[in-house]
Amino acid sequence: MNLKRKILLFSSVWLVIMLLLINGSIFLLFQKIIYDNETNRVTEHTRAVVAATNHAVAEGADIRALLRAYLPPKGMIRIITDETTSVLTISKEGYMQQLPTEYQNQQFVAIRTFDQIPYAVVSFPIIWTDGSVMMLEVTEILEDSKNTMQTLLVVLLVATVIVLLPALLFGNMLSKLILTPIKKLTSTMKQIQTTGNYKKLELDTSSKDELYIMGDTFNQMIDILEQNYQKQQQFVSDASHELKTPLTVIESYANMLKRWGKKKPELLDESVDAIYTEAVRMKEMTEQMLQLATDNIQQLLDKKEIDLLAMTKQVSQHIQITFEREVLFVEKGASFIIWADENKLKQVVYILLDNARKYSKDHITIQLEETSQSCSISIIDNGIGIPTADLEKIYNRFYRVDKARARETGGVGLGLSIAKKIVEAHKGQIEISSIEGKGTTVTVTIPKQVERVVNSIDS
Ligand code: ATP
Ligand code: MG
Repeated sequence: MNLKRKILLFSSVWLVIMLLLINGSIFLLFQKIIYDNETNRVTEHTRAVVAATNHAVAEGADIRALLRAYLPPKGMIRIITDETTSVLTISKEGYMQQLPTEYQNQQFVAIRTFDQIPYAVVSFPIIWTDGSVMMLEVTEILEDSKNTMQTLLVVLLVATVIVLLPALLFGNMLSKLILTPIKKLTSTMKQIQTTGNYKKLELDTSSKDELYIMGDTFNQMIDILEQNYQKQQQFVSDASHELKTPLTVIESYANMLKRWGKKKPELLDESVDAIYTEAVRMKEMTEQMLQLATDNIQQLLDKKEIDLLAMTKQVSQHIQITFEREVLFVEKGASFIIWADENKLKQVVYILLDNARKYSKDHITIQLEETSQSCSISIIDNGIGIPTADLEKIYNRFYRVDKARARETGGVGLGLSIAKKIVEAHKGQIEISSIEGKGTTVTVTIPKQVERVVNSIDS
């Protein structure tokens, strides 16, 4: 059953049940009041007839004439023996004589039906002329009451229909109101499914109800999906493009080796070197790409208390020895203890020092600063700098300011995006200021002990 039918059924069935209960109760109550009034009236009349009959029996008067005088317009008076036979029946309506006789030896009042017509029967015991006890029974057809009841029934039925019709219309309107946006949403989703293109819903902004919020949330979700899809497409095309270069180099050297390798031994060394370098580059690139693709880096962080100064000195030593580059330290603060993942932060420092080394020729300065909330580390070089227009793009994956020169330095353009991801996972910030031709300063700020504060609040 579809939602529209369910809404209609639910709203109307309840209403029908309620109306039937209320109208049924009204009908039965009225019927009881009317029948009670009628039986009271007939009982009073019968009492009068019995008194007059007793008097006539005592006086020896003409009972038949007396009863005829007391006969109700649509009624019958009978004298019934203890053998339930009638000794005297007075009635204008012939068919009434077919009504069954009943002897009970005591007063009784009842409403019965004959041929679907209700009648009231009131019976009183009397002493008959021969001294025996008989029942004087007055019966009256309640045709007027029946008509009244029928009119009431029609009125109640019409009232039921009058209430039900708008309720059905209202149910219909309600289901349309709810279902139209849902149908739109479903058809948009189907279109996305069949065409593969992201599509947004057209929203009616006149009311900001739950249905509007549902549509708006859907549109926001589509935005995110579209952005992610575009990012993914960009990443795939960048990655395949980047991987193509080393693969082409490897392929061409391998080709050369196949053709001339055996005849020209000097070519052998060069080719193997080139193939090895490109293979290492590809391996590094693949590892970096995998790292960037990790979504839950925050959960993977293995945080502990680390000394930022000691850690930075360790990494810089490696650069100093391997690349014979002077690294100077400036410390503004007493303690540089932070709560972080040591290996990941080492990687950040390494990425930044590696950049400073690659894009400058002079010494590199590392400046550590401490505030009550955080520790920061700035890596300052006096190198080629970054043009202002490129500054906001350098965190993008595979982005390099000078692609031609980057091949000489061996850069892929993933370092800064990885560094940013790690710093943000630590709830920190990374900022770059640079003047082209003069040098670059990259500052990473990490909050001191975020986790520990949270932990102590928890406990
Ligand atoms: P990778 O780090 O992946 O080996 P990369 O160094 O080229 O390659 P990033 O570290 O992301 O990539 O840096 C992106 C670009 O930003 C670099 O190609 C370079 O043009 C520029 N850049 C980064 N740091 C500096 C710096 N200290 N001085 C000048 N330019 C820089
Ligand atoms: Mg780099």
